[in-house]
Amino acid sequence: MATTTMPETEMKRESKASVKYVYFFGGGKAEGNGKMKDDLGGKGAGLAEMTNAGLPVPPGFTIQTEACREYMRQNTVSREVDQQMEEALAKLEQLQGQKLGQGENPLLVSVRSGAKFSMPGMMDTILNLGLNDKSVQALAARSKNERFAADSYRRLIQMFGNVVLEIPKSAFDEVFDAKKKQKKQKLDTGLDAQALKEVIEEYKKVVKKHAKRDFPQNAHEQLVMARDAVFRSWNNDRAKHYRRINNISDDLGTAVNVQAMVFGNLGETSGTGVGFTRNPATGVKEFYGEFLMNAQGEDVVAGIRTPVPIVELEKIMPEVYNQLRDITTRLEKHYRDMQDFEFTIQEGKLYMLQTRNGKRTGIAAVKAALEMVEEGLISKEEAIFRVEPNQLYDFLVPRLDEKHAKVEVLATGLPASPGAAVGQIVFTADEAVEKAGHGNKKNPVILVRAETTPEDIHGMEVAVGILTSRGGMTSHAAVVTRGMGKCCVAGAGDIDVDEKAREMRANGQVFREGDWISLDGTTGRVIKGKLNTLPPKADDPELLKLMAWAEPFRKLRVRANADIPRDAIQARAFGAEGIGLCRTEHMFFAEDRIPHMQAMILADNEKDRRAALKKLLPMQRADFIGVFRAMDGFPVTIRTLDPPLHEFLPRREDLMVDLAVLPFADAKQKKSMVEKYGRFGAKGASDLKKVVPTLLRRVEQLHEFNPMLGHRGCRLGITYPEITEMQARAIFEAAVAVAKDGVKVFPEVMIPLTATLKEMANQGEIVHRVAEEVFTEKEKRVDYLVGTMIELPRAALVADEIAKEAQFFSFGTNDLTQTTFGFSRDDVNKVLPTYLAEGILKQDPFAVLDREGVGQLVRMATERGRKTRSDLKVGICGEHGGEPSSVEFCHQIGLNYVSCSPFRVLTARLAAAQAAATDKLKVEGGRTK
Ligand code: PEP
Ligand code: MG
Repeated sequence: MATTTMPETEMKRESKASVKYVYFFGGGKAEGNGKMKDDLGGKGAGLAEMTNAGLPVPPGFTIQTEACREYMRQNTVSREVDQQMEEALAKLEQLQGQKLGQGENPLLVSVRSGAKFSMPGMMDTILNLGLNDKSVQALAARSKNERFAADSYRRLIQMFGNVVLEIPKSAFDEVFDAKKKQKKQKLDTGLDAQALKEVIEEYKKVVKKHAKRDFPQNAHEQLVMARDAVFRSWNNDRAKHYRRINNISDDLGTAVNVQAMVFGNLGETSGTGVGFTRNPATGVKEFYGEFLMNAQGEDVVAGIRTPVPIVELEKIMPEVYNQLRDITTRLEKHYRDMQDFEFTIQEGKLYMLQTRNGKRTGIAAVKAALEMVEEGLISKEEAIFRVEPNQLYDFLVPRLDEKHAKVEVLATGLPASPGAAVGQIVFTADEAVEKAGHGNKKNPVILVRAETTPEDIHGMEVAVGILTSRGGMTSHAAVVTRGMGKCCVAGAGDIDVDEKAREMRANGQVFREGDWISLDGTTGRVIKGKLNTLPPKADDPELLKLMAWAEPFRKLRVRANADIPRDAIQARAFGAEGIGLCRTEHMFFAEDRIPHMQAMILADNEKDRRAALKKLLPMQRADFIGVFRAMDGFPVTIRTLDPPLHEFLPRREDLMVDLAVLPFADAKQKKSMVEKYGRFGAKGASDLKKVVPTLLRRVEQLHEFNPMLGHRGCRLGITYPEITEMQARAIFEAAVAVAKDGVKVFPEVMIPLTATLKEMANQGEIVHRVAEEVFTEKEKRVDYLVGTMIELPRAALVADEIAKEAQFFSFGTNDLTQTTFGFSRDDVNKVLPTYLAEGILKQDPFAVLDREGVGQLVRMATERGRKTRSDLKVGICGEHGGEPSSVEFCHQIGLNYVSCSPFRVLTARLAAAQAAATDKLKVEGGRTK
């Protein structure tokens, strides 16, 4: 029997005749509309909507996102897509009276990406498509500008070469720079038509060499190739990274917009610009933006020429200016949100190229939302959703004051940790400590490194800001600074850091130690010189007003993780309603306490251990008194000691080295060892022989292969009950003391890392016993609870059992994520980048709660726990407690509270309010895009 075989790609190109892949817009009518963002992407929907509203939009068509998804599945699109595209192109040609890349007046088009959610600059664009060796001459004749035509053509080859044929940008840059050098020109604009024609010939050679083919002269071939390249750009690293940090699904795909080109560089009555209907930094209602006459879009971005503020356009072309104001005002009313728009003026005629809801800072988001309510544009309930909870961080950190300053941006890196920092450059952590000074003699320093490591921590601590040239949003610098609430710009690749030479090169300039720079951690900008900063505005009246609208919806309580009175006071100022986690071990790390802690650990019998604990008791009590006072009227959850004891001792490897070196050490070395081991009893060099080996022996006894799963959590309190006893005593003595002063105190004692009922019962018994002892001694009682952290899958499974003894649960989702996935929370970064890049995980589960797995355990344990104890109070105190999508989940499964670091309290409050308002108002509030 004869069989016919189809080529593989043909087989894959199944036809889907029923799908409308291509939507036309032009001539005052569009097939799509503004609501069709899923299919047309934000840009395509906007173009359709503007066309339907009769606005001057260059005509074109949008190839919808299904075609991109098809491309991703099959590596090609169905024949139907090609066919519908050709039909739309024919319609466009007819409307324009032009042919793509042909004739005396050739049609040229732009090919741009546009996904449902705006992903600025992440995907690719090709302009001037349709130019070839012939049509470039027609363009020159028609525009009477040979230079313009040649420049447009060389830009096409460059963009097409890079985006479609994947030739490195540098290959073209080399040619262009060499030509400038040869013609002795500094600026791109210095090259005349002849020089550009020479560049074109060389660019073609670059294409041939790298792509092993000629630059396509057929305009239709150019179009198909460009379309597919834009589809591919959905999956480039930049785009994937952006989607990850913005929680956008990888499955959406992008639409492609093909639109007739208009030129802003056709002479002095042409121009191009971008703008906002309100100031995106402050939210003030003002016409904001910039433009350049006789220029193409990329000139505005490239920074070769300085754009002019948009209000100046009124002087140059008053009619166009008024038309633009009129249109953008209408657009804002229509979309009921601040617009970010792009326009081009071609020979005196205005064209709108794009409009979308504008990105804005947190401060601008709040102001604009309030004003839009006042203007009657939106309702109060809608206003609550106009602010991303994470953006509220902007109110809690200083900002750069750019009003009267000269702002020279040296580079833009990742906005790793928001806020502003202005200081003098240092290149090492030690220098940071030295230059930052103490007391009244403090100097602001910015630590500049290629990347930071844990060894830099002391420098990071004293620096006002951190700048790194390598690393991403989860790099050491980014993670640590976010925890510190300190400004950080990470991965600023355009900066070259030479730590050896103590130099930083940026934007063609060399910066040395002591030079001033300013960082904007909210936008990622690195700015030359010393700008002023504006203080944080946590009590900003507009913020308070918006929160007052949102708060009545909120059901979840928001507490803070705070270990010391200072943090508790700060948290309360941000609206924390109690403390959800006080990590008592942090109290032991203080300079004056660590010796007693170490003595306790080194003790090899109970008597000595109790003696050392006795010294710690008054210190713990004093801390608790401070925390209780700060949280007067609110509950305070105090966790008994959790980390493995070896964390308080010197590193085993260091001790081994010192022990080996000791017999040969000179006086200087011995002196430094005495300093190091002084707190362990080394008063002089002669003590070292005894102290160092004793220490090493104890460290070896405590050594564990897997300390995270080892002697920690309640296991410590069970093996050394005197530790729990001391801590319980400190808690209740403090509680009784402040209660006697009239403070309303509600201690909640929390046992970490339980897995069984008996563990809980063991520790609960100690706490209840000590409480009774203290109440009898002091003749005063206070209400209190004893509960546990749920951090192990077993605990979640037997939550009904554990709830027999535990009066509350708090999910330690850091450990619960660690133990559920089996990922070490300290080492996960070895695999995480690959997992994210491969799409094996969509998000870092240590940042965003994994609803399917870890979340299921949280839900189940809550249900089981409440079966035993219907009034069981349940909260979460892992890092997830301040992350909006995790907060939303906690609301959905009926937890009582979330607890997070003080700087995330505001964010959690708004996220919790939005989650509840979503239920009530039945609005689209879900955070997973
Ligand atoms: C947790 O595990 O989620 C938690 C809050 O405890 P820690 O981070 O101190 O282990
Ligand atoms: Mg934990």
